[in-house]
Amino acid sequence: MAEPKETEVTTTAPAPAEEPAAAPATAAVAQTRARRQTRPKYVPKRKVCPFCRDKVQVIEYKNISLLRNYITDRAKISPRRKTGVCAKHQRALAVAIKRARHLALLPFVPAHIYKTGGVGIKE
Ligand SMILES: [Zn+2]
Repeated sequence: MAEPKETEVTTTAPAPAEEPAAAPATAAVAQTRARRQTRPKYVPKRKVCPFCRDKVQVIEYKNISLLRNYITDRAKISPRRKTGVCAKHQRALAVAIKRARHLALLPFVPAHIYKTGGVGIKE
């Protein structure tokens, strides 16, 4: 007599009070959790500095074809976060680009690109 009564109480007591309100929310949470688990986690690729990889000691300011990979279409020096160059080589690269600019091998501003017909700029 006592056992069936207890099971009845436990099944009926929480059901009318919480289920209508809590069930959709918990279902949605479970769904998003399931989606999050199934989606592959974003793992950023570690960029390796191309100069470190090639064991470059000196970045030559006369090597325009190399340097122009590291300036934008607006003639700005590309940030490290884009190119993956390490801090040490970025400093050397910046100096090399500035030297090349001084010798008019690379543009300072977009107007220079226009005037020179895009010398030192990727096509
Ligand atoms: Zn490096």
